[in-house]
Amino acid sequence: MRTGVSSPDAGDGARPMSSNARANGQPDRGLWARRHNQALVALARHVWHEHCTLDKAFRLICETAAQTLEVERVNIWRLDIEQRRLLCVHAYSHGTHEHNPSGFEESLDFDSAYGVLLDEVRVIDAADVARDATLSASQAALGDYLRRHRIRSLLDAPIRSEGDLLGVVCHEHVNGPRTWSPEDEAFAGSIGDYVAMAYEISRRREAENRLRYLELHDPETDLPNRDHLLEVAHNALRPMHGDDSGLAAIHLQVDAPPPPGTRRDDPAADELGVLVAIAEQLRGELGETVTLARVRDDAFALLPHRHLHETEALSLAERCIELVQASVAANGMGHAGVSVGIAFSRDLAAPSADALLRNAELASQRARRHGRNRCEVFDAEHHRGLLSRMRTEQALRDAFAEQRLLVYFQPEVDLNGQRWRAAEALLRWRDEDGLVRAAADFIEIAEASGLIVPVGRWVLNEACRAARTWPARDGVAPVVRVNVSGRQFEQAGLVADVASALAEHGLPPERLCLELTETALLRDQASAAETLSRLRTLGVGVALDDFGTGYSSLAYLKHLPIDAIKLDQSFVAGLPADQYDLAIVQAVVGLAKQMRIDVVAEGVETQAQADCLRGCGIARAQGFLFAPAMPAETLQLRLAEGR
Ligand code: C2E
Ligand code: MG
Ligand code: MG
Repeated sequence: MRTGVSSPDAGDGARPMSSNARANGQPDRGLWARRHNQALVALARHVWHEHCTLDKAFRLICETAAQTLEVERVNIWRLDIEQRRLLCVHAYSHGTHEHNPSGFEESLDFDSAYGVLLDEVRVIDAADVARDATLSASQAALGDYLRRHRIRSLLDAPIRSEGDLLGVVCHEHVNGPRTWSPEDEAFAGSIGDYVAMAYEISRRREAENRLRYLELHDPETDLPNRDHLLEVAHNALRPMHGDDSGLAAIHLQVDAPPPPGTRRDDPAADELGVLVAIAEQLRGELGETVTLARVRDDAFALLPHRHLHETEALSLAERCIELVQASVAANGMGHAGVSVGIAFSRDLAAPSADALLRNAELASQRARRHGRNRCEVFDAEHHRGLLSRMRTEQALRDAFAEQRLLVYFQPEVDLNGQRWRAAEALLRWRDEDGLVRAAADFIEIAEASGLIVPVGRWVLNEACRAARTWPARDGVAPVVRVNVSGRQFEQAGLVADVASALAEHGLPPERLCLELTETALLRDQASAAETLSRLRTLGVGVALDDFGTGYSSLAYLKHLPIDAIKLDQSFVAGLPADQYDLAIVQAVVGLAKQMRIDVVAEGVETQAQADCLRGCGIARAQGFLFAPAMPAETLQLRLAEGR
């Protein structure tokens, strides 16, 4: 046995020869080297490939080695360092092109002369195993192995990584003794390196896969996490461009707080335990038909693997509710529950996995508002409405901060003399495009968001400031009417706000009238009466706005200190033709007279309406027929002109 790269001997006649070499009977070593290099380069390309598994790499390496070195067999052995044994992990028979043929489930003791040598050299070559001293000095099992497999000559290359011996790759020649050239030995050494490289790549890939697994899984339930589900949803959505059938996502929001008074060691206090149990239950029952993920600490989501109709998705959601209920009952947490939301890809403006999961979660939040163990389907229309409201609310906040809110004033006239006696302050919004938007477009959003409270305070001030400048007409100073929403009316600071606005602008209280709606007054009648009487003490007037559109229960009128009612424009619109509207107007006027309450008609647009209202005994009116709402300066100009 020679070790390492040795000087060339004559070949066995089957080696490649150039014409020159053939002429003098010598093998062409340059040609060999080139051929070996080409084989190694091609092999490297495959082994490095990202989809090449360890088994595939072994197959390619063994085939290339067997073909290039023209040997009968190439076997890869792995060293089990603890057992001190070499185990044959891959065998290739060149003659039959068979990988791992039977008879090679071999293992050999490593602690032998062969093992010692293997740890020291680049290659072990034996031209004739029968005459090789090292092999003969090794244990009998090796000799037995060589005999059984009729091995006559071998070229074995250690597999090393970072100095550690991992195993050996054996090139086995069976047809008789064979002298190995230095090129053969160099090539065999490289084959050992390639096997080491394949091991290294596979080890790194395994580590990467493990890392990726950890990145994409929840450690507590071992379920995919939200990122993983997003990836699955993203891939499922990809082929769906232009396809509006439904990929469904189902969000399961678990609600499992420990019941009050539970001790730490009480099973009912183990929220995580319950979640893990639910995860197992869902995974066990839903199996491979869905991808189930833990998307939050207390929430799961699942993506069915096929498109579902709405009814199918609903019954899947119901099934999930049952499974969660069964699981919480089994864990003694009967008080816990789940809220389920379903969303479909068809509702997405663009295919977005994130939006799909978010929609399902939003739907589960709506379900939760209706109670436990319920399911809701994401409602795109509702959602769009919410979004647009949110945008309007933000734009309104910006407009307020940037002083783009305005107060317009609409005169209220005396129907008999057409002179104006009062004006109503109406909120306006100059939007980004410079357009002035009417209150009807946004007032409800301002109320719902609470923005109406600071905005209303500002309107009150602007109204008092403007009214202070209005000259008296026929000896009577005009009244300014200011709308007060339910939200404003309920907040404790209203009376103080009114008092300070009057004081700041020096407006006599009888020149201010607050307009309230029936709904605002009826919400909490006791505190409404209290606030009204405090306003009364201040000396300001109160009018009931939009009269006739609310409960229209006139009974409360007599309990509340009200100066005027503003008859809603919906009753005016039908006049004079509509007999019902006429009858209502007459009834309201009769009642108001008895109670000594003034009536103002709103939304008067035609002379016929004005005449009819006057005929009914109404003295005051407001509407486009007389004047629209206008900026304070315009109103000033008109007043200066004596109109
Ligand atoms: P409102 O108090 O009943 O005000 C009358 C509404 O009818 C105003 O709409 C006014 O522009 C409109 N109007 C006036 N004359 C006519 C007419 O002849 N025909 C028709 N079709 N409409 C007429 P605007 O300004 O859009 O206000 C809508 C509602 O918003 C108001 O109804 C009031 O409830 C509320 N609002 C307006 N400004 C404020 C405010 O500063 N604070 C509060 N809390 N609410 C306000
Ligand atoms: Mg009003
Ligand atoms: Mg009104």
